[in-house]
Amino acid sequence: MQELKDSIRDIIDFPKKGIVFKDITTLLAHGRHFHRTIDLMAHRYLGQDIDMIVGIEARGFILGSALAYKLGTGITLVRKPGKLPHKTIQKTYALEYGTDTLEIHADAFKPGERVLIADDLLATGGTIAATIDLVRELEAEIVECIFLAELDFLNGREKLSDVEVFSLLHF
Ligand code: AMP
Repeated sequence: MQELKDSIRDIIDFPKKGIVFKDITTLLAHGRHFHRTIDLMAHRYLGQDIDMIVGIEARGFILGSALAYKLGTGITLVRKPGKLPHKTIQKTYALEYGTDTLEIHADAFKPGERVLIADDLLATGGTIAATIDLVRELEAEIVECIFLAELDFLNGREKLSDVEVFSLLHF
Protein backbone atom coordinates (compact mmCIF):
# COMPACT_ATOMS: atom_id res chain seq x y z
CA MET A 1 0.00 0.00 0.00
CA GLN A 2 2.89 2.36 0.79
CA GLU A 3 4.19 1.75 -2.73
CA LEU A 4 0.85 2.93 -4.16
CA LYS A 5 0.83 6.00 -1.90
CA ASP A 6 4.38 6.85 -2.93
CA SER A 7 3.39 6.65 -6.60
CA ILE A 8 0.99 9.59 -6.18
CA ARG A 9 2.82 12.87 -6.79
CA ASP A 10 2.28 16.02 -4.71
CA ILE A 11 1.99 19.25 -6.70
CA ILE A 12 2.39 22.23 -4.40
CA ASP A 13 0.16 25.31 -4.94
CA PHE A 14 -1.96 23.71 -7.71
CA PRO A 15 -4.51 24.75 -8.92
CA LYS A 16 -4.05 27.67 -6.52
CA LYS A 17 -1.75 28.76 -3.72
CA GLY A 18 -2.04 26.75 -0.52
CA ILE A 19 -3.39 23.55 -2.15
CA VAL A 20 -1.29 20.38 -2.24
CA PHE A 21 -2.72 18.60 -5.29
CA LYS A 22 -2.56 14.80 -5.25
CA ASP A 23 -1.58 13.98 -8.82
CA ILE A 24 -2.71 10.40 -9.50
CA THR A 25 -1.50 10.45 -13.13
CA THR A 26 1.83 9.03 -11.90
CA LEU A 27 0.01 6.04 -10.39
CA LEU A 28 -2.18 5.57 -13.47
CA ALA A 29 0.87 5.68 -15.76
CA HIS A 30 2.47 2.75 -13.93
CA GLY A 31 0.92 -0.48 -15.21
CA ARG A 32 1.56 -2.64 -12.15
CA HIS A 33 0.34 0.05 -9.73
CA PHE A 34 -2.81 0.78 -11.74
CA HIS A 35 -3.59 -2.93 -12.04
CA ARG A 36 -3.09 -3.50 -8.31
CA THR A 37 -5.20 -0.44 -7.44
CA ILE A 38 -8.17 -1.71 -9.43
CA ASP A 39 -7.78 -5.26 -8.11
CA LEU A 40 -7.74 -4.01 -4.50
CA MET A 41 -10.74 -1.71 -5.03
CA ALA A 42 -12.77 -4.35 -6.88
CA HIS A 43 -11.91 -7.14 -4.45
CA ARG A 44 -14.19 -5.61 -1.80
CA TYR A 45 -17.24 -6.16 -4.00
CA LEU A 46 -16.56 -9.50 -5.68
CA GLY A 47 -19.59 -11.73 -5.25
CA GLN A 48 -21.77 -8.78 -4.18
CA ASP A 49 -24.81 -7.80 -6.10
CA ILE A 50 -23.73 -4.53 -7.79
CA ASP A 51 -25.68 -3.26 -10.80
CA MET A 52 -23.88 -0.08 -11.75
CA ILE A 53 -20.82 2.07 -11.10
CA VAL A 54 -21.34 5.83 -11.00
CA GLY A 55 -18.17 7.63 -12.16
CA ILE A 56 -17.63 11.31 -11.34
CA GLU A 57 -15.98 13.54 -13.99
CA ALA A 58 -13.19 13.19 -14.82
CA ARG A 59 -10.78 10.97 -12.90
CA GLY A 60 -13.72 9.01 -11.50
CA PHE A 61 -14.37 7.86 -15.08
CA ILE A 62 -10.95 6.20 -15.28
CA LEU A 63 -11.24 4.32 -12.00
CA GLY A 64 -14.97 3.72 -12.40
CA SER A 65 -14.73 2.16 -15.84
CA ALA A 66 -11.90 -0.17 -14.82
CA LEU A 67 -13.95 -1.19 -11.76
CA ALA A 68 -17.07 -1.73 -13.87
CA TYR A 69 -15.12 -3.94 -16.27
CA LYS A 70 -13.70 -5.97 -13.41
CA LEU A 71 -17.08 -6.38 -11.69
CA GLY A 72 -19.01 -6.93 -14.91
CA THR A 73 -21.34 -3.97 -14.28
CA GLY A 74 -22.29 -0.95 -16.33
CA ILE A 75 -21.05 2.56 -15.65
CA THR A 76 -23.05 5.78 -15.66
CA LEU A 77 -21.50 9.25 -15.72
CA VAL A 78 -21.87 12.27 -13.45
CA ARG A 79 -20.68 15.25 -15.47
CA LYS A 80 -20.22 19.00 -15.50
CA PRO A 81 -23.21 20.93 -16.95
CA GLY A 82 -23.97 20.71 -20.64
CA LYS A 83 -21.98 17.55 -21.39
CA LEU A 84 -24.66 14.86 -21.18
CA PRO A 85 -26.83 14.70 -24.30
CA HIS A 86 -30.12 13.33 -22.96
CA LYS A 87 -32.52 14.68 -20.29
CA THR A 88 -30.66 15.31 -17.02
CA ILE A 89 -31.22 16.24 -13.40
CA GLN A 90 -28.79 18.70 -11.76
CA LYS A 91 -27.41 19.45 -8.33
CA THR A 92 -25.66 22.71 -7.44
CA TYR A 93 -23.36 22.70 -4.43
CA ALA A 94 -21.16 25.17 -2.58
CA LEU A 95 -17.41 25.43 -3.13
CA GLU A 96 -14.97 27.45 -1.03
CA TYR A 97 -15.65 30.33 -3.44
CA GLY A 98 -18.86 30.11 -5.46
CA THR A 99 -20.80 27.06 -6.58
CA ASP A 100 -20.52 24.14 -8.96
CA THR A 101 -23.13 21.96 -10.67
CA LEU A 102 -23.19 18.28 -11.56
CA GLU A 103 -25.59 16.41 -13.82
CA ILE A 104 -26.68 12.84 -14.44
CA HIS A 105 -29.02 11.39 -17.03
CA ALA A 106 -32.54 11.26 -15.63
CA ASP A 107 -32.91 7.65 -16.83
CA ALA A 108 -29.53 6.47 -15.48
CA PHE A 109 -31.01 3.79 -13.19
CA LYS A 110 -33.95 1.53 -12.73
CA PRO A 111 -35.40 2.18 -9.23
CA GLY A 112 -33.67 0.06 -6.58
CA GLU A 113 -30.53 -0.63 -8.61
CA ARG A 114 -27.52 -1.17 -6.35
CA VAL A 115 -24.70 1.20 -7.21
CA LEU A 116 -21.14 2.07 -6.22
CA ILE A 117 -20.05 5.68 -6.63
CA ALA A 118 -16.38 6.03 -7.62
CA ASP A 119 -14.05 9.01 -7.60
CA ASP A 120 -10.32 9.52 -7.31
CA LEU A 121 -10.19 11.58 -4.16
CA LEU A 122 -12.32 12.56 -1.16
CA ALA A 123 -11.37 16.08 -0.03
CA THR A 124 -14.07 18.29 1.56
CA GLY A 125 -16.86 15.94 0.44
CA GLY A 126 -18.90 18.49 -1.53
CA THR A 127 -18.62 16.65 -4.84
CA ILE A 128 -19.61 13.28 -3.45
CA ALA A 129 -22.44 14.75 -1.34
CA ALA A 130 -23.96 16.30 -4.49
CA THR A 131 -23.54 13.02 -6.38
CA ILE A 132 -25.23 11.09 -3.56
CA ASP A 133 -28.21 13.48 -3.80
CA LEU A 134 -28.46 12.90 -7.57
CA VAL A 135 -28.31 9.11 -7.24
CA ARG A 136 -30.91 9.08 -4.45
CA GLU A 137 -33.22 11.38 -6.38
CA LEU A 138 -33.26 8.67 -9.05
CA GLU A 139 -34.08 6.05 -6.38
CA ALA A 140 -30.96 3.91 -6.77
CA GLU A 141 -29.51 2.25 -3.68
CA ILE A 142 -25.94 3.30 -2.81
CA VAL A 143 -23.93 0.31 -1.62
CA GLU A 144 -20.78 2.36 -1.01
CA CYS A 145 -18.78 5.36 -2.15
CA ILE A 146 -15.27 4.29 -3.11
CA PHE A 147 -12.21 6.51 -3.50
CA LEU A 148 -8.66 5.82 -4.46
CA ALA A 149 -7.50 8.32 -1.83
CA GLU A 150 -8.86 10.41 1.04
CA LEU A 151 -7.45 13.56 2.64
CA ASP A 152 -8.26 12.64 6.24
CA PHE A 153 -7.46 16.09 7.66
CA LEU A 154 -10.35 17.67 5.70
CA ASN A 155 -12.92 15.43 7.45
CA GLY A 156 -14.97 15.12 4.26
CA ARG A 157 -16.52 11.85 5.40
CA GLU A 158 -18.24 13.64 8.30
CA LYS A 159 -20.58 15.15 5.68
CA LEU A 160 -21.47 11.62 4.57
CA SER A 161 -22.72 10.03 7.78
CA ASP A 162 -25.64 8.14 6.22
CA VAL A 163 -23.63 6.24 3.60
CA GLU A 164 -20.77 3.72 3.56
CA VAL A 165 -17.42 5.19 2.49
CA PHE A 166 -14.24 3.33 1.60
CA SER A 167 -10.90 4.82 0.58
CA LEU A 168 -8.01 2.63 -0.46
CA LEU A 169 -5.32 5.13 0.55
CA HIS A 170 -5.29 7.76 3.31
CA PHE A 171 -3.21 10.92 3.47
P1 AMP B 1 -14.26 17.69 -2.67
O1 AMP B 1 -15.57 18.03 -3.28
O2 AMP B 1 -13.64 18.81 -1.89
O3 AMP B 1 -14.30 16.39 -1.87
O4 AMP B 1 -13.23 17.50 -3.86
C1 AMP B 1 -13.25 16.34 -4.57
C2 AMP B 1 -12.88 16.53 -6.01
O5 AMP B 1 -11.92 17.54 -6.25
C3 AMP B 1 -12.30 15.23 -6.51
O6 AMP B 1 -12.97 14.91 -7.70
C4 AMP B 1 -10.84 15.50 -6.71
O7 AMP B 1 -10.47 15.09 -7.99
C5 AMP B 1 -10.66 17.01 -6.61
N1 AMP B 1 -9.69 17.40 -5.55
C6 AMP B 1 -9.97 18.18 -4.47
N2 AMP B 1 -8.88 18.41 -3.73
C7 AMP B 1 -7.87 17.77 -4.35
C8 AMP B 1 -6.47 17.60 -4.07
N3 AMP B 1 -5.88 18.17 -3.01
N4 AMP B 1 -5.74 16.85 -4.91
C9 AMP B 1 -6.32 16.27 -6.00
N5 AMP B 1 -7.61 16.39 -6.32
C10 AMP B 1 -8.39 17.14 -5.52
